[in-house]
Amino acid sequence: MAMPKETWPDWDIYVRDRCVCAYCGLSGVDQFETWMQLVIDHIVPRCTGGADNPQNKTVVCQTCNRIKGRYDPRKASNRPSSPSREELIGAVRMYMNERSGKAAYLPDFAQMMKEIREADARPPLALASPNPVSAEADVPKPR
Ligand SMILES: [Zn+2]
Repeated sequence: MAMPKETWPDWDIYVRDRCVCAYCGLSGVDQFETWMQLVIDHIVPRCTGGADNPQNKTVVCQTCNRIKGRYDPRKASNRPSSPSREELIGAVRMYMNERSGKAAYLPDFAQMMKEIREADARPPLALASPNPVSAEADVPKPR
């Protein structure tokens, strides 16, 4: 059953921003699978004092959301004293370009895949390593 739009957080933000990622331009318009990947970002992160209001919110894709992380665009060196929303979004785009966007995550991806392969290569017995507490708990008790 569909969620009533009145109870959907940030419905109006998605409509205002036309379901387009503010940082890379990925559009979820008429693209259901892409639309499903869109999330709301606080341009100035909440954790660094960003407001929880429409002016500080924007639609982004999950990839850009991950790359941006907790970056505070007010840290950009050429910032005006009272940066506009557009200037802050521009600063985030510059930051992401400097980090090479997705490519910056390739080493993390490689490391995680290596750890998964190593975990899969372990013999099954290694998973049942001796742990007196849980081993005892797993033994069915006679009734
Ligand atoms: Zn994006």
